[in-house]
Amino acid sequence: MGTQPVPTLEITLPSRGRLYEGKIPDGKVTIRKMKTGELIALESEASADQDRAAVIIDNCTILPNKFPQRDLLMSDRFAILLALRRWTFPTAGYNFNWKCQHCPHINMVKNFDLGKLDCHMEGDAVNPATNEPWPTFVEPVVCMLPECGKKVELRFLRGTDEKVVAQAAKRMKNVTGKVEDTSLMHRLARQIVSIDDVKPTDIVQTEHWIVDLDMPDTYAMVDALDAVETGVNLKLNLDCQACQMPRVLGLPITADFFRPAASKR
Ligand SMILES: [Zn+2]
Repeated sequence: MGTQPVPTLEITLPSRGRLYEGKIPDGKVTIRKMKTGELIALESEASADQDRAAVIIDNCTILPNKFPQRDLLMSDRFAILLALRRWTFPTAGYNFNWKCQHCPHINMVKNFDLGKLDCHMEGDAVNPATNEPWPTFVEPVVCMLPECGKKVELRFLRGTDEKVVAQAAKRMKNVTGKVEDTSLMHRLARQIVSIDDVKPTDIVQTEHWIVDLDMPDTYAMVDALDAVETGVNLKLNLDCQACQMPRVLGLPITADFFRPAASKR
């Protein structure tokens, strides 16, 4: 038996290659299906779902001009992951659980249609959520903080940042012993290019600066980035099945993403 050729598919990244200095023309990249052996190897390593996703994206994405996979925007990387999942398992819905913040109920979402997620492609005229025109997708994003009055310049995260952020959050958990998720702070600290035109030099100092900010200032940065960034909108508006309280949740990536429940394959 010879080696089977691996099927490939051309897709267009949501950024259309805009922030890659012309190295990925029109944002066109090739993806290939993952081999069973690769999936087994990944699963036997028992790594976190987030790490698995990163390995899958790196292995299954073929980029022009030797562009490093880890230099892709996080938003483009997720679009690749989603395209791979939908191409590999075209009829499988996605199952995941989420815990209510108001009652102890654990909600189970069955057969979620991943094709329903909105995607903002570079060049789209209007944001369907606000009916406003999308701002131009550029870096840095300039943001005025409403409470402290400072001007902050922000950049978008790349694949290289993902691991660093995850490690920082894990380290923090080990040090403090607290379960709270500090990844927003770690993420934002790495996205800050300048504060009042001064480039931050120490990442820990920047993290402390963020912790001391009033919440409206932090939200201003998050919103400014969200308002511009291209990619799949991962925010889900869900209601608890027990207490009906609404929750805005980022789509969780679990093992089911890579290996759908047997009955649905
Ligand atoms: Zn509830």
